[in-house]
Amino acid sequence: MAGKIKEIQASEFKKEVLGKKRAVVDFYSTECPPCEALASKYESLSTLYGDDITFVKIFRQGNRDLAAELDVSSSPTLLFYQDGRLSGPKLSGGIKRSEIMKGLDALIPEDRAAEIHGSIKPVVTNCDVAVLGGGPAGLTAGIYLAQAHLNTILIDTALPGGYVATTHQVSNYPGFIEPQPGFMLSHFMGEQAKANGVEFRSAVEVSKIDLKNKSILVDGFETIEAKKIVIATGSRPRPLNVPGEKEYQGQGISYCATCDGKYYDDKEIVVIGGGNSSIEESLFLSKFASKITIVHQFDTLQANKEAQKKIFADKKIKFMFEHEPREFKKYGNMDMGVVVENLKTGETTEIRTNGIFVFVGFIPNLEMFNDEMELDQWGYLKTGENMQTNIPGVFAAGDVRTKAFRQITTAVADGTIAAITISKELT
Ligand SMILES: Cc1cc2nc3c(=O)[nH]c(=O)nc-3n(C[C@H](O)[C@H](O)[C@H](O)COP(=O)(O)OP(=O)(O)OC[C@H]3O[C@@H](n4cnc5c(N)ncnc54)[C@H](O)[C@@H]3O)c2cc1C
Repeated sequence: MAGKIKEIQASEFKKEVLGKKRAVVDFYSTECPPCEALASKYESLSTLYGDDITFVKIFRQGNRDLAAELDVSSSPTLLFYQDGRLSGPKLSGGIKRSEIMKGLDALIPEDRAAEIHGSIKPVVTNCDVAVLGGGPAGLTAGIYLAQAHLNTILIDTALPGGYVATTHQVSNYPGFIEPQPGFMLSHFMGEQAKANGVEFRSAVEVSKIDLKNKSILVDGFETIEAKKIVIATGSRPRPLNVPGEKEYQGQGISYCATCDGKYYDDKEIVVIGGGNSSIEESLFLSKFASKITIVHQFDTLQANKEAQKKIFADKKIKFMFEHEPREFKKYGNMDMGVVVENLKTGETTEIRTNGIFVFVGFIPNLEMFNDEMELDQWGYLKTGENMQTNIPGVFAAGDVRTKAFRQITTAVADGTIAAITISKELT
């Protein structure tokens, strides 16, 4: 193991962690993409902080009892210790370098932390193509680019996979007879990209992007300089901007049925929205909930006919057409309220429920770009047929660009077209 990291077993925990003045522990697993994403950050930070803090790794599956005792239920999980006591945050999932540094800094004196920060040397990495975003569009672009022997770096502010990784089941991606769990599909795409030689920068902070000069600052110290850039940053749920929405996000209000549906076994749910994703996600939620009320602003659903047929046949699902949410309220754990307005009469009523799911459309992830980019009326990136944007050498693919239909197949098609165009230009 490179860096200043010691791999230990549960039997050594007392001596190597609790017995040290300062320690950080990484509980990892094998075949764990977030653990792989963390490994290089942990290693480079152990070189920086290793003289002051003991860096330890523990294989979670091989040390289950210790993990359970410490309430570590997922990999990777980072725990920070000072004088034998748990100190600072418990980090898990797609852990960012800055989050780890914050935890490490809290263990040492301020001036020593400043000294370490000052010793970080900027790095410049050159490549042929930098792909921003590791959803289906970015991963497909990466696969094609790497197969064309172009040195490709894929940068994602989260863990690669994009929306597919959180989609319960994908039944319309060609090549599979049975519906596929979304996380498996995205996992295979990521592994295929890796196997073909795409280099990943996962769960990183992207602080500066200069599209004209093709340079991207990652984690504050690595500048990636490329000949071409593919923007495949996708889109995110559109907020309703209703009082209570921000406050109770993740505490009763959810945007992801796959992630949160399991908490609503035999509970009541209100769903906001009547388009495709709302109806498909409500059908999924119906597996858990005892009752679902769909609040929709129009007098008919906008979802496809097949989904409508299924939802109208589901006895657990009720509809409030021509209603809009005006306020979200929270009364206690799993006790929420939605104030809705009847758009015909102006009358407001409150629905008491256990949880609220919002599915009302998406906005493109483009805030971090300062260059002048040509956008459509909804703020999506305009491209030509070859996915070229108005900035020479910059391409866009997937949900972030203007198009009629946003699906996995259309995202992978965009990624393919952008990559083939680039490989023809660069060879
Ligand atoms: C709930 C739901 C269910 C769906 N079900 C289906 C389905 O069954 N079948 C189907 O075909 N389609 C489905 N879709 C649509 C499909 O998921 C999208 O069309 C597809 O994921 C778009 O791929 P993408 O690569 O463009 O973007 P995304 O999948 O959104 O990926 C974008 C990536 O970019 C990263 N990113 C964001 N900002 C930055 C930045 N500044 N720098 C670097 N990286 C960044 C994100 O972390 C993310 O990994 C569903 C969508 C949703 C929301």
